[in-house]
Amino acid sequence: MPCYRCGVRQTDPERGKSPWRRGVLRDQLVLICPGCQASGEVTAELDHCATCASTHLISRLGQVECLDCGVVREPVVACTGHRQQDDSLAEEVARALDRVLGSAGGSGAAAAGGKGSGVVPPG
Ligand SMILES: [Zn+2]
Ligand SMILES: [Zn+2]
Repeated sequence: MPCYRCGVRQTDPERGKSPWRRGVLRDQLVLICPGCQASGEVTAELDHCATCASTHLISRLGQVECLDCGVVREPVVACTGHRQQDDSLAEEVARALDRVLGSAGGSGAAAAGGKGSGVVPPG
């Protein structure tokens, strides 16, 4: 992954840990080369921790975690729920069910007296 600012490729460090830094920009994990780190503008551009204002953030599995204070920010999910149509539909279904269930126990159901035609006793 190249530097997100200047696009230079990361080279393997001779020894020790890489001078490259990780950061999070708009919920995306980015790499910053040593040269861009020195410019100082990177710190202003990167996402900041909402708790401690640190830019030592990493992004994984859609979550942004602060490496300084350890707070984890859940990803922002767009809310796509409109319940108004569902309500009117549910009301219509409930009314239809009421009609069906109401008619079953009401008119002339007790008049049918044909017992014994359903179950045949063994033997
Ligand atoms: Zn750079
Ligand atoms: Zn923090």
